[in-house]
Amino acid sequence: MKNLPIFPAGEVWLVGAGPGDAGLLTLHAVNALEQADVVVHDALVGADVLDMARDGVELVFVGKRGGVTSPKQPEINRRLIAYAKAGKRVLRLKGGDPFMFGRGAEEALDLVAANIPFRIIPGITAGIGGLAYAGVPVTSREVNSSVIFLTGHDKRGLSPDNVDWAATAKAGMIVMYMAMRNMHEIAGNLVAAGRPADDPVVVVSNATLPDMQVVETTLERAADDIAASGIGAPAIISIGRGNLLREALNWRGV
Ligand code: SAH
Repeated sequence: MKNLPIFPAGEVWLVGAGPGDAGLLTLHAVNALEQADVVVHDALVGADVLDMARDGVELVFVGKRGGVTSPKQPEINRRLIAYAKAGKRVLRLKGGDPFMFGRGAEEALDLVAANIPFRIIPGITAGIGGLAYAGVPVTSREVNSSVIFLTGHDKRGLSPDNVDWAATAKAGMIVMYMAMRNMHEIAGNLVAAGRPADDPVVVVSNATLPDMQVVETTLERAADDIAASGIGAPAIISIGRGNLLREALNWRGV
C-alpha cells in the first residue's frame, strides 16, 4: 500500500486487530498482514482477519481453545524472538489494542531485551469500538467526563485485589474487560463503594461480530442476568448512565 512501511525481515510487529469486524483493521494492520511471513495470533483474532494475510503465510495459534491452556507468555515471547532471529517478518496479532489488557508491553519489553527491532500498531479496543457497535458511547458531554478501564480478573483468575474501589466507583463510566466470571463480587465492591445499585449496565459479547449479543441490566442484577441470559465471553461490561443513550441512538453495528 502506498506510503505504508516495508516490513523488514527479522522484525516483529505487534499489531492490534480490533474487536473482530475485519473492517475495523487499520491500514497499518492490513499492510502488515500483506507482508508478514508468520502471523502469531491469539483466540480473539477471527478468521475474517486472518484471511487477509498473504498466501503462503504461516499461521501460529497461541491462544486458549476449548479449555486447552495456551502456551505461557515466556514461551510465546521466546517463539517471537526465534522467528525474528530466523529472518522472518513476524506479525504478532492481538485482539483489540495490543496495549489494552493484552500483554503487548510484556512482549515488547522482551523484544527490547533481545535486541529485536519492532513496531507497535495500535488497534481499536473492544472497550470503545465494541461498545460503539452496541450503540453505547464511552463518553458524551452531557453524561460523563471520565472513563475507567478495568480488568475483571487478575493472574489468578480472581477479581483483582489492587483496585481502588472508592476511586473506581466515582468514574463517569466504568468499562470492564474479562469481568463475566467475577461480576457478582465486582458489583458488590462497587455498590459498597457508593455506586448506585440501579446504575445501568450493558453487557456486549462477541462485539462487532455477526453473533454479537447484548444484555441490558443494572449493577445489582448484572451477575444474575448474565447467568440467566446465557451470554458468554468474550464480553465487555459497561457501567454508567451513558448506557441509557443506547435507546435514543438506536444504532447497532451488526
Ligand atoms: N487487547 C484487547 C483486550 C484483551 S483482554 C482489546 O483491546 O480489546 C480480553 C478481553 O477483551 C475479553 O475477555 C473481553 O472482555 C474483551 N474483548 C475482546 N474482544 C471482544 C469482543 N469482540 N467482544 C466483547 N469483548 C471483547
